[in-house]
Parts: sequence; C-alpha cells; structure tokens
Amino acid sequence: MKKSFLPALAIFTITVIASCQSATEGEQHVADTSATNSPTTMSTPLKEKVLTASEQKALTPDSVIQIFKEGNRRFMNNNLTARDHSALVRDAAAGQYPKAVVLSCLDSRIPVEDVFDRGIGDIFVARVAGNFVNEDILGSMEFGCKVSGAKLILVMGHESCGAIKAAIDNVKMGNITAMLTKIQPAVVASQDFKQDRTSKNKEFVDYVSKNNVKNTIEAIKAKSPILKDMADKGEIKIIGGYYSLETGEVTFFE
Ligand SMILES: [Zn+2]
Repeated sequence: MKKSFLPALAIFTITVIASCQSATEGEQHVADTSATNSPTTMSTPLKEKVLTASEQKALTPDSVIQIFKEGNRRFMNNNLTARDHSALVRDAAAGQYPKAVVLSCLDSRIPVEDVFDRGIGDIFVARVAGNFVNEDILGSMEFGCKVSGAKLILVMGHESCGAIKAAIDNVKMGNITAMLTKIQPAVVASQDFKQDRTSKNKEFVDYVSKNNVKNTIEAIKAKSPILKDMADKGEIKIIGGYYSLETGEVTFFE
C-alpha cells in the first residue's frame, strides 16, 4: 500500500504544480506605470503594491481615466493582472489612497474591480440598482474625494439594465417602488425617443440608461457643492461610462 501511494502522490503533486504554473502564465503584465498589453513570462503572481499617499498625489483625473481605459482593455483581452491578494490585504491594512470612486449598478454581471483590472485599495465602489445618487452615496463620494483624495468619479450605467426596465414599466413592489422614483426622471427625459418607448425595446432601454447616467452626474454637481467645487478647480473629474454586457467594454463619456 505504502509503496504505490508515494509515487502516486509525487505524480499528483507535479501535475498540480504544473497546472498552477500554466494558469498564471499569460495572465501577467507589467504594472500601471508602464502598462502595456503584452504578457510577460513571470511564473509567480505580480507583487503589486497598494497605492501610497505620494503615488495618489501624483495622479491626475486624466491619468486615472487612462489607467481605467488600459485596465478595461486588459479585462476585455482576458489579460487581468495576477495579484498576490494576501500580501495586498496585509499592505492595505495600514491605510488607503484610492484612485477613484466608481458608482455602478447592482447588476451581478459587472465585477467592477475586474472590469478595470484594479486591486485591493485601488478604487472605492458604490453600488445601487440604477446607479443613482442619494444623500448617502453623495456623502460616500465626498469622503472618497475630499477626505481620501480620489481623483475621479465614474458613474457607470450598463446595457440591458433591469432597474431601468423596471422604471420604464413603473413597477410597484415593496421598497423597489420608492427606489424607482430615483430613476424615473431619466424615463421622463427620454420621451423624445422616436420609436417604441417600452422596456422590450433594447435601444430605448439603453437610451434611458445613458440619460440616467447624465442625470446622475448633474445631480452630483447640483447636490454636492464640495464635489462641484473640486471639479471646477480641476482637482477631480466627474464622468460617465457605459458597460457592454456583450463585450465587457466600457465606453467613456468625457
Ligand atoms: Zn442595472
């Protein structure tokens, strides 16, 4: 029994090690500072560091947008950075200096950090079905930018949004009823759409989603003097984005 067990264990161990190595190869790339799309041949996870205060200070709103665009390209190309999450968790315990605040829909098909190839301590993510703002989300954004130094607010809507469809259909159900009143101004703003204005028309749903992103950006500026002032001074940018469920691509509205 013992004689046959040991060689079998050795073969199993070699197979596991080999398959782990092949899984990490091809997912590697260099870090943000010199980001390219070309994979390297490293065989261990990239020791990416958590962003520091001085690194955050050196960022500009435009450089963060560029980092997001490059990260989204890696996501689309199935070339996400392999990260040592345990090391990042330990590093990040000392403090956080994130690059941006992303407001996303609740939708489970949008893994926000992955969509931009971001790691622990990299971005603040606020999520609510229909990506609108209320007092609590505005307070969170003010914390993210004014207190914690983030350079960008990205409001990200998406294709075929269920919350937008429900707002179009004027769904009444529990707390969803009140939630949808925050999205319905975008439906009202979309009445210039010439064709079928129902939730069954994908083009109309997408049109309302984009108007909802615009409304959210306007609401941020109208209801947060702190964020408007930071945007006016060029300390932050507040922009919209639109996520394609089919391709994973984010189109930025700048
Ligand atoms: Zn949605």
